[in-house]
Amino acid sequence: MAEERRGVVLYGTGVEAVAGALWKLDPRYVPAGAEVSAGQVPVLLVRDGAEADAVRGRADGVAWLVVQLGHEAAPAGEPVLYLNVGRVGAELAARAVDQPDLLVWYEVVNRVRVVTSDGGPVAGDYSNVEFVVPDGHRVVAHAVRDGDGRPECLPEDAELVLPSHDLWALGPVRSTETCPACTGRYP
Ligand SMILES: [Zn+2]
Repeated sequence: MAEERRGVVLYGTGVEAVAGALWKLDPRYVPAGAEVSAGQVPVLLVRDGAEADAVRGRADGVAWLVVQLGHEAAPAGEPVLYLNVGRVGAELAARAVDQPDLLVWYEVVNRVRVVTSDGGPVAGDYSNVEFVVPDGHRVVAHAVRDGDGRPECLPEDAELVLPSHDLWALGPVRSTETCPACTGRYP
């Protein structure tokens, strides 16, 4: 993103910790208000969503990413990157802010099948429904840049692919495998 300048507005619970984690992750993140030079990304801490919207509304040539931490502050208008820092921690939150458009597509291998125990149609009360988990059933997470479409490493003949809006950066909180190729590209 050399052309459009990026900026980050944080509000909510634990903004200082996430701002600190951002500066640690990449020194290009600098406190807003300081002298911001080319290539640097100003990080602004505000009180609530209304203040974040006001920052976003300024015609300052900066594409502000609005980030809400926790659920207590009054929300900003969409789009907002919502992160529950209490669950993911400041470091993972900072990674998510750094890669907000890197999403997960899930590849399901040997998908779970639904069958009926009597071989007939599904009963009205679902009493004859069984779930069959085949050997080798697993889910592999792939990283996809939003709008880029299917990643190369995803097999052409994949049985089931579930695109999602889950953030790749938050991968470690999931219980799926991650694709080695994607992990290499986006460590
Ligand atoms: Zn992959």
